[in-house]
Amino acid sequence: MPHSYDDQNIFAKILRGEIPNDTVLETEHSLAFNDIQPQAPVHVLVIPKGPYVCYDHFAQTASDAEILDYTRAIGEVCKLKGVEDDGFRLISNAGEAGVQEVPHLHVHILGGRPLGRMLQKA
Ligand code: 5GP
Repeated sequence: MPHSYDDQNIFAKILRGEIPNDTVLETEHSLAFNDIQPQAPVHVLVIPKGPYVCYDHFAQTASDAEILDYTRAIGEVCKLKGVEDDGFRLISNAGEAGVQEVPHLHVHILGGRPLGRMLQKA
């Protein structure tokens, strides 16, 4: 299915400065900010500035510069938030089965406490 980007999604509005965010890091191609409803002591969302719906869309169509910047930004946030020693989890939900609420690529960085197993049994 082709990826169709909705520029009225909440993260597009954050990128345009239409709604505020609690920024952790901004780079040329990426923005990281605290999740509004944190599910762990560390819960940061990292998004590319470009109009990508989800991870596969980004991985298939973003430029090398964007991919490099985004990957480095995630690493930098892990360092800034001090989760490297105790460990952390990256999650990127996509589409209906992945229960993605906001249709702009985001990686959740979760840490600061033991997070339990990755998935609950259905
Ligand atoms: P998803 O289910 O799409 O992977 O996760 C969306 C995440 O975005 C949720 O964890 C939710 O709390 C967060 N979120 C939704 N709206 C806002 C907002 O306006 N600001 C921030 N900082 N986070 C938001």
